[in-house]
Amino acid sequence: MSIEITRRSALLGFAAAAVSPASLVRAAQQKPVGWAVLGLGSYATYQIMPAFAHCVNSKLVALISGHEDKLSRLGDQYGIPKTHRYTYDAMDAIKNNSDIDVVYVITPPSTHPEFAIRAAKLGKHVCSEKPMAPTVADCQRMIDACRKAGKLLQIGYRCHYEAHNLRAIQACRSGELGKITSIKSDHGFNIGHGLWRTQKALAGGGSMMDIGIYSLNALRYLSGEEPVSVKATITNPPNDDRFVDVEDTVDFELTFPSGLIGHGTSGYSWRNGKNRYEVIGTKHTLIAEPATAYDGDRLTVDGVELPVEVNNQWAAQIDHMSDRVRHGGKVATPGQEGQRDIRIIQAIYESAKTGLAVKM
Ligand code: NDP
Repeated sequence: MSIEITRRSALLGFAAAAVSPASLVRAAQQKPVGWAVLGLGSYATYQIMPAFAHCVNSKLVALISGHEDKLSRLGDQYGIPKTHRYTYDAMDAIKNNSDIDVVYVITPPSTHPEFAIRAAKLGKHVCSEKPMAPTVADCQRMIDACRKAGKLLQIGYRCHYEAHNLRAIQACRSGELGKITSIKSDHGFNIGHGLWRTQKALAGGGSMMDIGIYSLNALRYLSGEEPVSVKATITNPPNDDRFVDVEDTVDFELTFPSGLIGHGTSGYSWRNGKNRYEVIGTKHTLIAEPATAYDGDRLTVDGVELPVEVNNQWAAQIDHMSDRVRHGGKVATPGQEGQRDIRIIQAIYESAKTGLAVKM
């Protein structure tokens, strides 16, 4: 097999998304960029906050939450001074806290715009979790607010900073696989009952917004193309209280300008879960499974595992933003990237409703 991986190619393969060696040297010489985490739920607590220990130019300096007990417990755990712990009601005071450069919004999607716009108006750069917001117009309001405030906006698409995904992008875009003739991505799991993820008012939609977005985003970043047309069907199991308000299974097809068709699926009732993509080229077939997991991502080409040096995807994502805050330049996953996914997801919903393809 002619495909080899190096640390350098993994790091630099896609939009130089990871922090470059030059940035590492610069980072060691400077005060780290200060981050406030807003919304102390599961992802913030178990993935994001621990990742700061692996960052080179970023520091967790403040917490913002609706719950005093979380501020107290996590504040003590992470050594955050009491002066740097804020409730949502009191968060306007971050304006005068020069230790905070970036606010990382990790709340249910329909609340992202309100918190992100508020943080930008308070003079802070913003990172918002995916899905960016329920509607394209909401995304635009977030983009406009950050632009007006002269602040950066990053969307937390961790896979754009993860070594296996960077390597897969390189393989797909460089011609190593030959011409790509087929591309497919599946993401789903079995969701519990009574969660905000199954309430449209908070989640903005169902499985497609939450987990199918990984299939959609992968089809876009692997192909390097934007769809010109979208076709989709939605299937909801009857008599299941999880799918009264939001969708379960989505099958979608993206037609790209080159003629390539991207196939994607998304599901919330899949007992065994799915997390994979498969790219068939004229020379080789690449399979990633798991493709976008928190750890253990695995890539094979024609059945042979590609060695990839594992990185901490969250630290890479956070340090990338910090590097741009300090030194300028574009963020690899800006608001426009999040907005593109939301525009396509809206087209997927529209197509599923009408049964017709939607032109983009
Ligand atoms: P959780 O329900 O575990 O946490 C959400 C937190 O948001 C709550 O704990 C709460 O924090 C805060 N919050 C603010 N307003 C509300 C509200 N109206 N209802 C409920 N919670 C509220 O969710 P997750 O941590 O799993 O997800 C949070 C975000 O992160 C979502 O956008 C999700 O899509 C994204 N995510 C991204 C992942 C990725 O891999 N990139 C993985 C998992 C999630 P507090 O009590 O401190 O106010």
